[in-house]
Amino acid sequence: MTSKVNTITTKPTVSAHQESEVEGMALLKAVGNTPLLPLRRVTKNISPDVKVYAKAEWFNPGGSVKDRPAFNIIRSALYECRLLPGMRLLDSTSGNMGIAYATFGAALDINVTLAMPENASPERVSILRALGAEVVFTDPLEGSDGAILVARQMAKEQPDLYFYANQYDNPANWQAHYNSTGPEIVEQTQGAVTHFVAGLGTSGTLTGVSRYLREYNPEVEIVAAQPDAAFHGLEGLKHMPTAIQPAIYDPKIPDRIAEVTTEAAHEMVRKLARQEGYFVGISSGAAAVAALQLAAELESGVVVTAFPDAGYKYLSDDALWETR
Ligand code: PMP
Repeated sequence: MTSKVNTITTKPTVSAHQESEVEGMALLKAVGNTPLLPLRRVTKNISPDVKVYAKAEWFNPGGSVKDRPAFNIIRSALYECRLLPGMRLLDSTSGNMGIAYATFGAALDINVTLAMPENASPERVSILRALGAEVVFTDPLEGSDGAILVARQMAKEQPDLYFYANQYDNPANWQAHYNSTGPEIVEQTQGAVTHFVAGLGTSGTLTGVSRYLREYNPEVEIVAAQPDAAFHGLEGLKHMPTAIQPAIYDPKIPDRIAEVTTEAAHEMVRKLARQEGYFVGISSGAAAVAALQLAAELESGVVVTAFPDAGYKYLSDDALWETR
């Protein structure tokens, strides 16, 4: 009897004060509701009855699509009392999720530790340093899977220190897109969206948006863009057949997979900058390649994709910006 009472009284709970601090955070209000931009000049060979749009995810305060899942993961961990005072948030990242965790972590006084491949762009490393995150560099040859294995090991060794956010397996990742990105796309196209195209990293964007769109209209077609090979330069994307499979990835979701080469994505990044004024990152180029390939096959339709981040983090990549 006594122990039962004790169990109940010692279970941690979230105070109304903590909850209102999280929900009232000014940065949170700036997440989502990103513009839906038309592709207008890179659309040669496409029927005039086919429209192609991209969600401009770099408008989020942390500069990428990953603000949506990062905030949702932190919120659910706080409310479920898995991220307790004094613990550090730990995850592996290719950069953007780490920047998002570090941004909201700073605002909510949560310390952040990130496992990240050592060859991440210097811009990412500098931004994380600026935001005060701790970075553990992992073997560049092992890519994002190497960072996952290091984060798992650290979480296992110090479970009381780390809350392991585990973006690859955490349903709060795709649910963020189900609750925000998906509804925004329906609203911004006035329900006319017929196709959705997204690059695959954790698959959170593709999974969450597709689940929402298919509930809205089961006819919506889904295309996943993925690198054409295990070794590639599409930062943020995964070659699923050879990578550790995220638990949140359901291979039945995409109607088809479009394989994109690093060179095609690079060329598209330059075109988007120079012909549309959209200064985006490499995975946006890959998403645009897949979206435009699909659009060229259609007679009519509304194709929507997501541009995960802007070009700033890739400025030191001289080969990407070569002048032609
Ligand atoms: N592009 C970039 C630049 C990213 O950082 C990520 C996230 N790793 C993605 C695309 C893929 O997004 P998701 O994890 O939702 O599949």
